[in-house]
Amino acid sequence: MSGWEAVVGIETHVELQTASKMFCGCPVVFGAEPNTTTCPVCLGLPGAMPVPNEEAIEGILRIGTALDCEIAEHSVFHRKNYFYPDLPKNYQISQYDVPICHDGSVEIDVDGDASVIGITRVHMEEDTGKSIHVGEGGRIHGAEHSLVDFNRSGVPLVEIVSEPDLRSPEQAREYGAELQRIVRALGVSDVRLEEGSMRFDANISVRRAGDVEYGTRTEVKNVNSLRSLQRAIAHEIERQIGVLESGEPVVQETRHWSEDLGATTLMRSKEESEDYRYFLEPDLVPMRVDASWQARVREALPELPAARRARYKGLGVDRRTAAVLAAAPDIADLFDAAVSAGADVRLSGIWVTGELVAYLRAGDRALDETAVEPDHLAELSAMVTGGRLSATAAKEVLGGVLDGDGSPGEVAAARDLLQITDAGAIESAVAAVIGEHADAFAKLREGDEKVLGFLVGQVMRATGGKADPRQVSELLRSKAGG
Ligand SMILES: [Zn+2]
Repeated sequence: MSGWEAVVGIETHVELQTASKMFCGCPVVFGAEPNTTTCPVCLGLPGAMPVPNEEAIEGILRIGTALDCEIAEHSVFHRKNYFYPDLPKNYQISQYDVPICHDGSVEIDVDGDASVIGITRVHMEEDTGKSIHVGEGGRIHGAEHSLVDFNRSGVPLVEIVSEPDLRSPEQAREYGAELQRIVRALGVSDVRLEEGSMRFDANISVRRAGDVEYGTRTEVKNVNSLRSLQRAIAHEIERQIGVLESGEPVVQETRHWSEDLGATTLMRSKEESEDYRYFLEPDLVPMRVDASWQARVREALPELPAARRARYKGLGVDRRTAAVLAAAPDIADLFDAAVSAGADVRLSGIWVTGELVAYLRAGDRALDETAVEPDHLAELSAMVTGGRLSATAAKEVLGGVLDGDGSPGEVAAARDLLQITDAGAIESAVAAVIGEHADAFAKLREGDEKVLGFLVGQVMRATGGKADPRQVSELLRSKAGG
């Protein structure tokens, strides 16, 4: 794309994980039998009246505050009018010109290249029902018939609108990932892209490098994975450059990303906001979020991913480990507690982002379904640094602890994994190996370090892998006079 610059803005929808829906008491659940969690309000029956859900307002305030937004003391709901089978009222309650949160920002980092992405607004709305098209691969065109499930209708939905500050598919992906990490840390949504509780619409245009005016943009709707977001934007940038270079104009339209085709296809020509005939929702009073509510929300915010990464950097945690921890608050909390309990930072970092994450993933488990405690990691760490357990055996012991087989000491003893710490026993094993491999030892004496690994290996074999290799190699070196 030499000579061209991409301009991308992203609208992110986040379903809040509240107990009940936005304007009625129906439960918010994923995967229930179709049309079982509905009532007159979320089915849009005549005369039904909406009542705002305070938990949802609290949720959006947490998101807005975490994104450094200004919070509007007064904001209002509007009706966004359009006709679609999954929208039984024929309007969606949303916010228009007075959103609850506005003018925020989020910092992202792509391979060490940091940039600040503006957040235009964060507003509250309700989700629609879900259309299921039967036949023709689930697409509406050519489907045999369509079904509508209203369970999702009225679920609290937060829309986060970015400024057109993103310049590459990689930045867009990282922006989406960082939003996901932030919302997960806030605990207001499970942000499961594959289940649709977080989804993206990307607005994409290209312009000649150095141009100030934006080009005509297209919108790619309902992208449901970070990988697809990156691929869809990359494809759309390339497509638009191709159109412009062939002398045609880019048409403002809504497009659909097909993961199978690896391409975007036309969905419909783009609506302007006028098409929605927004007007004030007459059944709801303005929302008031006073200064004390705003302050309470600010004080109750957890540590956010960026702050965590910075803190871990200060602790000497490597960049990759810090990134994994910052994306998984529950695992990071375990790590923090283990380090406070005296566990080694480096070892704990390796264990929780390596063995623990792999264990959880393999069994599709949550952290609280395992038996591991911060003290376990501290004990395990002390066993390794004290030479009683090898780094390899420690991983096996951790597996046993996760399975609930006991403390690290108990698991290591039961599985006979403890190392020989008795200096005399190691000394005699080393002496025996030196006797057996006198020529190799002579080379070591001459300063040939290449044989050291071989000799250590022989001692490890002689001790059934239970000597501390570091201790063995020190002993061999000192005996060789080095
Ligand atoms: Zn309902």
